Amino acid sequence: MLKAIVVAWLLLFFGDFLSTFCYHVPEHVFGRLHLQTHHSAKKNFRHYAILILNFQVLLDGVLGALPYLLVAPFLWNFSNVGVIFGLLFGQFHVWWRHTSIMGWQTPEPVTWLCKLLFITTPEQHWLHHHKTNEGYGDIFTFFDQPARVWLRQLRLIRLHLRLSKG
Ligand SMILES: [Zn+2]
Ligand SMILES: [Zn+2]
Repeated sequence: MLKAIVVAWLLLFFGDFLSTFCYHVPEHVFGRLHLQTHHSAKKNFRHYAILILNFQVLLDGVLGALPYLLVAPFLWNFSNVGVIFGLLFGQFHVWWRHTSIMGWQTPEPVTWLCKLLFITTPEQHWLHHHKTNEGYGDIFTFFDQPARVWLRQLRLIRLHLRLSKG
């Protein structure tokens, strides 16, 4: 049981780490897909929670989820139950973190528990939807600050690239 929990946590940790630093933040600087689909205003819950059959929305969702699936085989032999639980939790979290659009509010005890475990609440994730400089770490809040540093670094690189092109 403990092993399964540790493996599930590791899957979410490395999945969120790779997704944030290799896809989400670089995509905000160099790409358009994520900004145009996931950050487009006035969409509904099913759009943000990737529950619609729209190619661009699905592609952004798949690219964001890919790191979790890449980590999964490395942890499979340690605990397959843990891997499955981690993937299911990740999927559940995608739905849950977008409930703010429906006006849902996280109950106080859940917010407190999330703070204790450094888990991103819907309210924190909603902040990211409005202010793209904030609220990074889809699942874990401790990725927010390093992601902002990474965002600034990549923006500087983009600036250098633009200037060197003339
Ligand atoms: Zn984003
Ligand atoms: Zn979102």
